[in-house]
Amino acid sequence: MAAKETGGGLDPEDWDSFRAEAHAMLEAAIEQMQGARDGRVWTPLPETQKAALDTPMPREGQGIAAVRQGCEALLPYGVGNTHPRFFGWVHGTGTPGNMIAEIAAAAMNANLGGRDHGANYVERQVIAWCREMMGFPDAASGLIVSGTSMATIVALKAARDSALGGAARTAGIGAAQLVGYCSRETHACVARAFDLLGLGSDALRLVPVDAAFRMRTDALCAAMAKDRAAGLQPFVIVGTAGTVNMGAIDPLDRLAEIAGEESLWFHVDGAFGAMGMTSPRLRPLLRGLERADSLAFDFHKWMHVNYDAGCVLIRSEEDHRRAFAARPDYLEGATRGIAAGDRWAVDYGPELSRGFRALKVWASFVEHGVDRFGALVERNCAQAAYLGRLVEAAPEAELLAPVALNICCFRVLRAGDDEAALEALNAEIVLRLQEAGIAAPSTTRINGQLAIRVNITNHRTSERDLDLLFEAILREVRA
Ligand SMILES: *Cc1c(COP(=O)(O)O)cnc(C)c1O
Repeated sequence: MAAKETGGGLDPEDWDSFRAEAHAMLEAAIEQMQGARDGRVWTPLPETQKAALDTPMPREGQGIAAVRQGCEALLPYGVGNTHPRFFGWVHGTGTPGNMIAEIAAAAMNANLGGRDHGANYVERQVIAWCREMMGFPDAASGLIVSGTSMATIVALKAARDSALGGAARTAGIGAAQLVGYCSRETHACVARAFDLLGLGSDALRLVPVDAAFRMRTDALCAAMAKDRAAGLQPFVIVGTAGTVNMGAIDPLDRLAEIAGEESLWFHVDGAFGAMGMTSPRLRPLLRGLERADSLAFDFHKWMHVNYDAGCVLIRSEEDHRRAFAARPDYLEGATRGIAAGDRWAVDYGPELSRGFRALKVWASFVEHGVDRFGALVERNCAQAAYLGRLVEAAPEAELLAPVALNICCFRVLRAGDDEAALEALNAEIVLRLQEAGIAAPSTTRINGQLAIRVNITNHRTSERDLDLLFEAILREVRA
C-alpha cells in the first residue's frame, strides 16, 4: 500500500497528515517570531535536548511527526539574535517574511549553478538591485554567496588573477610576490582569503589607523613604497566600510584614488556598513565605495535577511569570469533547452550546486523596499549615539572609542580597580548579562583595553531596550 502510493520514494504516504504537520510547524514558527521580543535573550540548550542530539544514526525513519517535534523543540534555543536586546558581534535580526520565501525555495529545490530556470532570473534581479543600491555600474557582475567571508574570497581571487593575468589559475602563483594592504582594524576574513588563495596571510600588510580607527593613508603609501623597493608586487588595497570592532569607515574615496594612481585593485569590505548606502544621511560617509573594483557585503546583517546570504559585486565582468570560468564537457551550455541561459553562476564562483538564497533576499527587497532599510540603519546609528550619551553621562563608565556608526564600545569603572581588575569586571558583567538572559553584548579590545561592545544591527531594538541594558550594567557595577 505505502509502496504503491509513494512509488517507493521519499514522499509522504499520507499527504493529509503531512499537511497537518506542516501547518503545525508553520504555526509554531509564526508564534516564535511573533514572540521574538519577549522573554530571555539567550537560553542555552537544555541537557536533555543536547542528549537527544547525540544519538546513534537512525536506521529506520521516525516519520514527519518526529521531524516536526524535533524542530519545534529547538525553536527557543537560538543564539538570541532575534531578540531586541541582542547586541553581540554583528548579527542580523531576520524577518518573519523570509519564512515564506524559504518555504517556496524548499518547494522548488532549485539548483542555481546554471541552466535556464526561474530561480536564476531572481538572482539576476537581486544582483541588479544591489548594483543600483551600491552605486555600481550596470555592467558590473555579481554573485550571491553565503556571506562576506566567501564574497571576499571570490573578490580577491578576481584581484589576484587580474594582477597575474589569469596564468595563476593553472600555473599557481609561482614566484610572484603579491602583497596587499588593509587597516589594522580589518576583519580576519581578509587574511583568511589571502591564506586560501596561496598568497599567505603575511602578504597582507596591516596599516596603522588614526584616532578615529580609520586607515592612515600616509602609512599606506609608505608601506607600498617600501614593498616596491623590496621588489614585491602590491596588487590590492582593502578598505573597510564599517569595521567590526567599532564601525569605523576608512577614507574610501582617498583609497580609490591611491589604488587608481598605483594601478591596484580596490576592494571594499562592507559586510554591514555598505547598507549605509541606503540612507541619504550615511551615504556621504561612504563616498568612494561606489568606485571599488569589488565589494563584499552581507544581506544577513543590516538588511536582516535570514541566515545565510551575502553578495559580491565586481566592477569588471571580465575579471570576475576570468577568475572562475571553467566548463567541462558535462556542463556545456546550449542555445536552446534547459542547458541554455547566458550566465551560469558556476563561471563566477567556486561552487557548482547552489541553493536558492536569492529568493529570501528578493523577498526582503519586495516586502520592505530599500528606503525602509535605510531608515532602520539610521535608527540603529541614532540608538548607538544615544547609548554613547548614557555612557558619557554616567560617572561609572567611559567610552573607549567614538560612536562612528552603530557600535558603542565602553567600559565601566570602579574606584580602586587597576587595569586587570577592570578587565575582569567588564568581562564578568557581559557574561552575567548573557547568562541572565537580560541582554547580549559582546566584548572586544580597543587599544588593548577590554571593552563592552554593543553592536546594534537590530530592527527590533528600541531606546527602552538600551535603557534596560545600561541600567542592568550599572546595577552590576554598584552591586
Ligand atoms: C561579519 C563581518 C565579516 C564576515 O562576514 P560573514 O558574513 O560572517 O562571513 C567581514 N567583515 C566585517 C566587517 C564583518 O562585520
